[in-house]
Amino acid sequence: MVRVSVTKGMVVAVLVLESFYLLASLKKLADLEEECEGKSQKAVADNRQVKEEAWPPIYIITPTYKRTTQIADMTRMSQTLMHVPNLHWIVVEDALKTSDVVRELLVRSGLPFTHLCATMPDEYKDKPMMGKGVFNRREGIRWLRENAREGVLYFADDDNSYDIRLFEQMRTTRKVSVFPVGMILSLGVSSPIIRDGKVVGFHDAFQAGRKFAVDMAGFAINLRVLHANPDATIPLRLSYLEDGFLRRLRIELEDLEPLAWGCTQVLVWHTKTHRPGTPKMEHIAHTDFDTNLVELYNNMLR
Ligand code: UDP
Ligand code: MN
Repeated sequence: MVRVSVTKGMVVAVLVLESFYLLASLKKLADLEEECEGKSQKAVADNRQVKEEAWPPIYIITPTYKRTTQIADMTRMSQTLMHVPNLHWIVVEDALKTSDVVRELLVRSGLPFTHLCATMPDEYKDKPMMGKGVFNRREGIRWLRENAREGVLYFADDDNSYDIRLFEQMRTTRKVSVFPVGMILSLGVSSPIIRDGKVVGFHDAFQAGRKFAVDMAGFAINLRVLHANPDATIPLRLSYLEDGFLRRLRIELEDLEPLAWGCTQVLVWHTKTHRPGTPKMEHIAHTDFDTNLVELYNNMLR
């Protein structure tokens, strides 16, 4: 009979070897897991990119004009839009010339953009009941007609607040989609009224004979509709811009597609930025002329 004598040293050696083997296996497993995770993350990203490229682009027309609150409003808006893929921002200044401050903001955003300007012709200036931001919005429409075939158009004022889920929802617009706008007029909301999934009217404090009692922020249009009505544009009459435009696009109530979960949630708000005092060089005390204040005011007043 062969007797194998197992020494304490041998046991320790086997144990140490086993531990090394275990550690190496664990490391291999962890590497493998990491690799798989990376691969699946990349697959998700690739998939998302393919999907995003296939999505119809959203064209946002934003009328804007110079005022003390403009850059704050436009910064907030640009940084909202930066979260939205496949979007083209058409910013139309109400001015004779485009400005450097707005251009620089657009470049900083990294968004695809078109920077235009248009202003109200002099002959309209004294006329009462003229809508705001009409000629610059019209200029945006002109650009779209010439430069974009497919996608969805949305008019987004520079001072409103937008939930980015709204942009994802409006991509599916076949003709005209509609949704509630919060913080507006005396009711505090303007919304299409939906019955059995269809738009049957509008809950809006300003009816005044409007067929479409909606705010500019409350609808999006498929470009097919715009191209099918080559002469349709925004009318000049104050308070009738939206109604007039939708009528000229030959839209009927039954064409409207309710978004925002059947118009049960608010995804855009008609916020208004409080107007504080206007910064002026005269506000700087003479004794502070050798400080940062001069450059600060210069930057704000550009
Ligand atoms: N706007 C413009 N020119 C003007 C006044 C307004 O281009 O003379 C733009 C403004 O920047 C905004 C939109 O038109 O994007 C609506 O203007 P505002 O927010 O003053 O209107 P309200 O919210 O009071 O309807
Ligand atoms: Mn506004």
